[in-house]
Amino acid sequence: MRLTVLGCAGSFPGPESPCSAYLVETEDFRLLVDFGPGSLSTLQRYAGLHAPDAILLTHLHCDHMLDAATYVVVRRYAPDGPYPPLPVYAPAGAPDRLAAAYGQEDSTVEDVYQFYSLQPGTFPIGPFTVTVDRVLHPVETYGVRLEHAGRVLCYSSDTAPCEALLRLAQNADVFLCEASYLDGADNPPDLHLTGGEAGEAAAKANVGRLLLTHLVPAWGSEAHTVAAASAAYAGPLEVVRPGASYEI
Ligand SMILES: [Zn+2]
Repeated sequence: MRLTVLGCAGSFPGPESPCSAYLVETEDFRLLVDFGPGSLSTLQRYAGLHAPDAILLTHLHCDHMLDAATYVVVRRYAPDGPYPPLPVYAPAGAPDRLAAAYGQEDSTVEDVYQFYSLQPGTFPIGPFTVTVDRVLHPVETYGVRLEHAGRVLCYSSDTAPCEALLRLAQNADVFLCEASYLDGADNPPDLHLTGGEAGEAAAKANVGRLLLTHLVPAWGSEAHTVAAASAAYAGPLEVVRPGASYEI
């Protein structure tokens, strides 16, 4: 499978990146994981306006889902549309949240999306075997393990250190992990990881490669985060950027 980063800015868009969005594709299927603000732009640049065959939203914080509301226009009012409902795997509140974000009174987005409520477990999406589990974040949030043809990608979503994250990442070929906080700062508990904590999780889970994401624009330090992660994890690691693509 191939991972393409469409957006990786943590919490709010940065000058160089939209918020979280990752396209994971095989030869004939494209799964969009998270759809944060601005990533509808890079979806067109790096894949195509109608590229996704399905969407998975790990949680309903704005920076991970708002462009799924923007995308309603694209599907519903296309000159060659409307397009058929697109499968969306998300926490149970997604239909109401997206309808509210879309902003028309008494509106629904269920003509555009076919919703499936996430629960901890393993299920197929297209050719992928998907395992999700609740991670440690203030709202219902799912870490994701994607398997295809014997290869494994784990995505942390947003989380503080937790056992579920280690289970999901166990022996993954690629671990796409958030590193929102700076090590040594006075960080709120049970919310996010530091670079050092991302590195520790990567080492404990024995992953093949660590991709750091969700660094917060303006407040973060890439050099600081990489140094802290490298001190905890000896394998290959880097900070991702929009447009970066990885064969897994
Ligand atoms: Zn979040």
